[in-house]
Amino acid sequence: MATVTAQLSDEYLNLIDGQWVAAQSDEWITVESPRDRNEIARVPRGGEADVDAAVSAAAHAFPMWRDTAPRSRGRILQQIADALEPHAERIARIISLENGNALRTQSRGEVAFAVDVFRYFGSLSGETKGETIPLKATALDYSRREPLGVVGAITPWNAPVQLAVMKIASAIAAGNTVVLKAAQDAPLAVLEIAKIANEHLPHGVLNVVVGFGAEAGEALIAHPNVQKLSFTGSTGVGSRVMSVASDRILPVSLELGGKNPQIVYPDADEDWVAEGTITGMRFVRQGQSCTAGSRLFVHRSILDSFVEKLKKHLAKLKVGDPLDEDSDIGAIVNKKQFEQVCSYIEEGINRESTTVAIGGQPPTEGPLSEGYYVEPTVIVGVENDWRIAQEEIFGPVMCVIPWDDEDEVIRMANDTHYGLSAFIWTHDVGKALRAAHSIEAGWIQVNQGGGQVLGQSYGGYKRSGIGREFSLEGMIESFTQRKHVSIDITH
Ligand code: NAD
Repeated sequence: MATVTAQLSDEYLNLIDGQWVAAQSDEWITVESPRDRNEIARVPRGGEADVDAAVSAAAHAFPMWRDTAPRSRGRILQQIADALEPHAERIARIISLENGNALRTQSRGEVAFAVDVFRYFGSLSGETKGETIPLKATALDYSRREPLGVVGAITPWNAPVQLAVMKIASAIAAGNTVVLKAAQDAPLAVLEIAKIANEHLPHGVLNVVVGFGAEAGEALIAHPNVQKLSFTGSTGVGSRVMSVASDRILPVSLELGGKNPQIVYPDADEDWVAEGTITGMRFVRQGQSCTAGSRLFVHRSILDSFVEKLKKHLAKLKVGDPLDEDSDIGAIVNKKQFEQVCSYIEEGINRESTTVAIGGQPPTEGPLSEGYYVEPTVIVGVENDWRIAQEEIFGPVMCVIPWDDEDEVIRMANDTHYGLSAFIWTHDVGKALRAAHSIEAGWIQVNQGGGQVLGQSYGGYKRSGIGREFSLEGMIESFTQRKHVSIDITH
């Protein structure tokens, strides 16, 4: 592998009350780079005592932050965006190093998005408005939108900066304080961003604790002084978060998993569609995306020719060192995830009726065998009720399922407990809209396969989650509560 060019700090610590501190236990977690399996840093193994200190700091800072003029809060977020921008390339390289996402196709865009998120929510901080009702001449009846208090935020590793910053910026813009439990597999870039944010925010407004889910994560979701839980991660853990929150009637936002359908109609047997479905599948993020369109329903009449187009375009993508400018696709995040993806591939290719159009088991020798690299894999002839078509693989594995009848394909698309996103490919607008309205998912794209749009509420149906955070409405819904004030002005 090429020489490491990301600049890592010597020491990564938790951020509590504006100070950088080790875990109280003085235990550490080693962060390994999936590009070559080398250890690149150590981070504190935060636990209950660290979470408790972070929550206390956030609770202490809350009244001051709540009462800071909203537009002053917004100005601080804008300052963070400006301060972050010159560090964008350095931080993008750290993301590639720690989670294996390719620098050119993924990490640079992720940090640019994060800058935008601070600017966007910074501009919205004054928009948490209430309403007045004209009841009668002698009454003043109005509502206020007030922040909730300490927000416990928990994020995964797959887009670590984007997902952390979404929660941080929208929660603090609305006047809350935050304790973020960053993902233990990719905490470094998040800590780098916290370092910059901490130079602008009052102490205690943002606290970051790194640790395992079963330790720091559990301590945060059960902490009595947390007033809101905002979780992004798997459906299994999301369900656990919700059940712990139910004891205290705590509001939760959950952004969870997906097994998202893409439907290719017979009139869409075209190269741009094949390229679009590749984007929708998030192959350039190794398929490690909750919105990946991993179930590709192709009309039987165009199956062979469409799969040929897919192969042609996928063959152009280069898997390799995430820090290499030539790489389109990087590495799977860790050994556990790598082995799990391989086992799903094994299961898919061992079925009698399937064929592997491209990809398959990863190389066992050569440079790619030094890290957790998996070629984009397309398995044709899958049935919708198989495990590989129902479970979230979270890897570069696309299942191709043929269809004949429109009602049947919509039924199959909906035959999943997930409901996050879907993609429809056809020139027939009527068909596209009928399908868009029939599919049970929170986000439908027609003839495009892009990523989330800042400003548009985003989130899941069914077991893909509840709550929305990507917009002004999402910020208000997720990070404020409504208070009704009634005044008799006769006296
Ligand atoms: P995960 O659920 O294993 O972990 C997510 C976070 O939760 C991590 O920080 C982890 O340490 C923490 N955690 C684990 N157990 C916990 C517990 N008992 N209590 C509290 N916290 C705990 O998920 P992952 O493997 O890191 O991420 C992949 C998953 O995230 C996929 O299912 C993916 O679809 C989902 N995801 C969803 C979205 C979305 O917007 N809907 C975005 C990205 C990822």
